[in-house]
Amino acid sequence: MEDDDKWLLAIDLFDEPKAEASSVEKQVPCKFSVFGCQFKGVKGTREMREHMRSKSPQHITLLHQVVKLQDIKIKQQHETIAKHERYVKHVSQVIKEYKEQFDEQRKQVNSQKTMLKDIQHDLTKLRVTSRKQNKNLSETIEELSEKFDQFLLDYSISKADADLKVSARYGEHLWIIRNYSRRLRRIKLGKSDDPIRSDPFYTASPGYRLCIWVYLNGRGKSLGSAISVYGKVMAGDFDPIMSWPIRPQFTFTLYEQNRAASDRKDIVRRRRVHEIKRDHDEKNSITRVNGGIPRPLGDDRSIIVGFDNFVTHEELHTCGFLKSDNIFLKVEVEINV
Ligand SMILES: [Zn+2]
Repeated sequence: MEDDDKWLLAIDLFDEPKAEASSVEKQVPCKFSVFGCQFKGVKGTREMREHMRSKSPQHITLLHQVVKLQDIKIKQQHETIAKHERYVKHVSQVIKEYKEQFDEQRKQVNSQKTMLKDIQHDLTKLRVTSRKQNKNLSETIEELSEKFDQFLLDYSISKADADLKVSARYGEHLWIIRNYSRRLRRIKLGKSDDPIRSDPFYTASPGYRLCIWVYLNGRGKSLGSAISVYGKVMAGDFDPIMSWPIRPQFTFTLYEQNRAASDRKDIVRRRRVHEIKRDHDEKNSITRVNGGIPRPLGDDRSIIVGFDNFVTHEELHTCGFLKSDNIFLKVEVEINV
């Protein structure tokens, strides 16, 4: 501004009369122009001093108005601040509420977590209990099924025995061994004894009393792989009037089933008591000493005569000897005194 003033002053010096120029150039606004006074005059002149003196009340009024405006503005600002404060307070309240809600939710989540844990624990317990119960139940079922098996077996044996009584003849005995597979399974599981024994039969009347012993799971070297078959002399009603010792000859026949008699390839094996080897069996030495089988004493100790490897399990299954789980085994006995 001062540069411009100098420049303007320079123009005045050359272009305008000096007196006129100075009165225009030095005019400045009244000090109260910022508060609204419109007066302009030359600085330091009498006119200016007169203005300042005479317009003092107006200046004060202007000042007062400005102060009043400022006051209003301040009041407005206070209101705005109060409004902001209220807003901040409201927001804080909302935040507080949110926080409470959040805390509540977190509490709920935690309690749900605990509940879930409890449920999991209960479930695990339940699972263990149920497993135990299942085990007990299956054991009971197993037991019952075994009992039922045994019942069926007993029933079929007694039925077979009844059949045999009809078909039995002196000196021979046809034995239908039913439920072969179930019997063998039970024997292998150690739930049934081997051998199984046929009904007794007589060779004549009067005659000798005998029966058949069958080891379904084999005996001696054939254990687990073949069926062993033996004849056995038992204590009988006529023993006191019979001749002793005896040398029986046993003929065992395993029938091939479901074939015409002419086409059948039965297994027929014969054994006489003196054919038994004597080297390893103490009872055989009794036979040798006595020249045959002595009169039985009513216990099971009399010797058995037959075959350890009468038929292998494999042969039995593949050659038609086993049908409907039944085996037909016949023994014929000739007694030599
Ligand atoms: Zn003024």
